[in-house]
Amino acid sequence: MLRLTIQALALLIAAGTAAAQDRGTVDPKPLPPIEKPDDPNVPAKELFGRKPKPAPLAAQAIGYYTAGCLAGGVALPINGKTWQVMRLSRNRNWGHPNLIQFLERFAEKVPSIGWPGLMVGDLAQPRGGPMLTGHWSHQVGLDADIWFSPMPDRELTRQEREEMSATNIVADNWKDVNPKIWSPAHIALLKTAAQDTEVERVLVNPAIKKALCRDVTGDRSWLHKVRPVYGHNYHFHIRIGCPAGQDGCKKQPETPADEGCGADLEAWFKKVLNPTPGPGRPPLKMSALPAACRQVLLAD
Ligand SMILES: [Zn+2]
Repeated sequence: MLRLTIQALALLIAAGTAAAQDRGTVDPKPLPPIEKPDDPNVPAKELFGRKPKPAPLAAQAIGYYTAGCLAGGVALPINGKTWQVMRLSRNRNWGHPNLIQFLERFAEKVPSIGWPGLMVGDLAQPRGGPMLTGHWSHQVGLDADIWFSPMPDRELTRQEREEMSATNIVADNWKDVNPKIWSPAHIALLKTAAQDTEVERVLVNPAIKKALCRDVTGDRSWLHKVRPVYGHNYHFHIRIGCPAGQDGCKKQPETPADEGCGADLEAWFKKVLNPTPGPGRPPLKMSALPAACRQVLLAD
């Protein structure tokens, strides 16, 4: 009798856990430990990439977007009314609370502009920091990637979230958007993101910036926040500013006040259409991050 009760209890707990996962958590696969975590030559991505949980400290964005970390990270639930998080196995749906609040606010607005909901790509790791794959930035919990695909009107399975591809909205020659896909809803989506007062930059492929420069009518005051960059043809990247009062968070330079539709855009087209391979960038070590990132890494 007692045994049955325990079994029933275990089942109940298992059911409860499954339900909790469906509401909002990911289930990352643990990586094998590294041999000498204290070796100063170990790339910081090997250390931050092995932390499945946030640092239990007050929320703080520490350092710079491309060299920093995140204390007190908060997870964006994997399902909202108007968003779904993709690629759950990466465990990158973490951010500073300001970023999570922004995303919830943004997602709530999009149905009214003809976009059914957001497909959310990478935010940050639980403790931010450099990542084992992809991204130079996304280190302080203030960056988010949003797919250029509208959210389907059903809840995607975990497998679909791993395997589905995002939509490329740039033409094959990289000189313009794909006219079969580009729509007023894409413009409204980018505009809604850029108009949020917390958002400092929205990064897109130069072909998308060119299309905005040509196609946006009426209020163009938000165009200066949309900046061209390599890639970003399957998703756009939203960067919010440093949280108020967090001196350890290094601000980025302000975007130029003009629309950015002239020489700046031309220069980016040259770079994208005639890429010259750079020297590459060696992986960051802990010494390249603010000292406080060691406490973030070790806190438990
Ligand atoms: Zn990004």
